[in-house]
Amino acid sequence: MRLAVIGMAQETDTFNPQLTTLDDFRAYGLYEGQQMLEDRHLDARTRGFLTAVRVDAGDIEVVPIIRGIGGSYGRIARAVLDHFLDRIGSSLRAGAPLDGLALQLHGGCCADGIDDVEGAILETCREALGPDVPIVLSLDHHANLTRRMVMGADLIVGFRTQPHDPYETSIAAAQLLFRLVRREIAPRGAWRKLPLISHQEQYLTSAGPMRTWFQRARAMERIPGVLTVSNFPVQPWLDIEEMGFASCVYTDGDQALADRLADELADLAWSLRDELQVQTSIPVVEALQVTAAAPHGVVILSDHGDSVFGGSACDSTTLLEAILGSGMDRRVLIPLVDGESARACAALGPGASITRAVGGTLSGFFRPVTITGTVRTVADGQLYVDGLPDPEMDMGVTVIVDCGPVTLMISEQRGVGGNHPGVYRAFGVEPADFHAVVLKTASNFQWFRPIAAQVIRVDTPGPTQSDIGSLPWARIPRPMYPLDPVADWRQER
Ligand SMILES: [Zn+2]
Repeated sequence: MRLAVIGMAQETDTFNPQLTTLDDFRAYGLYEGQQMLEDRHLDARTRGFLTAVRVDAGDIEVVPIIRGIGGSYGRIARAVLDHFLDRIGSSLRAGAPLDGLALQLHGGCCADGIDDVEGAILETCREALGPDVPIVLSLDHHANLTRRMVMGADLIVGFRTQPHDPYETSIAAAQLLFRLVRREIAPRGAWRKLPLISHQEQYLTSAGPMRTWFQRARAMERIPGVLTVSNFPVQPWLDIEEMGFASCVYTDGDQALADRLADELADLAWSLRDELQVQTSIPVVEALQVTAAAPHGVVILSDHGDSVFGGSACDSTTLLEAILGSGMDRRVLIPLVDGESARACAALGPGASITRAVGGTLSGFFRPVTITGTVRTVADGQLYVDGLPDPEMDMGVTVIVDCGPVTLMISEQRGVGGNHPGVYRAFGVEPADFHAVVLKTASNFQWFRPIAAQVIRVDTPGPTQSDIGSLPWARIPRPMYPLDPVADWRQER
């Protein structure tokens, strides 16, 4: 059988006004055809698909179409979407005859003027393949599941864990595709949408309400006749139509069972709605007091409002300003995206003294802060960080600047915002030497775990802030819990 594989992933935050460009995709690796199967260009999902093909040992020919990762940021530019739809449509037609498609998308991508990019990609694929070629869609579980996605795909499989398991999910999705192409299964699906969103503080699937909800989905997959079960606690910073949590169940030919299980998962999420809103992040002043008093080891300061994995721009100066003004005498490491400052420091060169306003230029939530310091390192920012699901990135011109107790990594592009120690090590900085490190994520602490003594969640403002109630919502369907009182998730929408 000839199976096409497509991997396109961008997670949008509609509260970040910056558009995602083709250069953003190129910064994380944009490849077509055989190039996307070269070892150094493989991301975790493509790698998972290839593993499933190898394990199957059947007569499978892989037809690579396109792979593009755009990180998390504002809506993608309309011309970028049009370019991708054009490439996907023409390459699928050129790849004919095809027996199936492994479609690996995020599910939370919006373009300028278009809320449901994945729905548009699915329709392009369906048009190119015709009605009978199976499409198995794998999604990040922060996807906003829509009617067009459900209609366009034969099966949908979401990530099972936070932090994510893209490799394992991709294998599971591929194995279902093989069975579908061989006509071994006849999927019947049911999905439920809830008028519910929540901030990111309860998103880890290892504890709390998310654990309860996801464990029930895993238990359902052990019921005879159930093919795959996915929960979608959508990424919350999407001010779009058709927004909200969702669940999706597929059985082998049993519609009643799919409906019953989908209802049960929706009921369970609804029963957890208040636990999902529990906030554990603390105010900045308190966070810095705890940090200053911490005995030893690296303190992780999780900058909730400026998460680069949630769509912020890594341009927050909130913690930088607070630390410089706090009299902190212990060393703190902070990433910052500010292209102009990176280029200006690079032009001065290592050893140069600088005084300039930095940061706060992109997302509209922050203001620049004036620093005085010394340029330590100038680099080109081309990295391959082993251990990341998408290891390739280009951070553009990147400089390391020491200013008082703070060491800043200032770059043109965000990369992963310093959320992996390997990023700093590539620039000659050892994060274990610092008393505290500011991470631009509220969930992905796993790469810092070996050196972290403590994680402090900081309630900071920004495009990914926990205080979702005060964001300027305009398009989201109302009523929406917890923005409005909602008595029953089954209400008429
Ligand atoms: Zn996600």
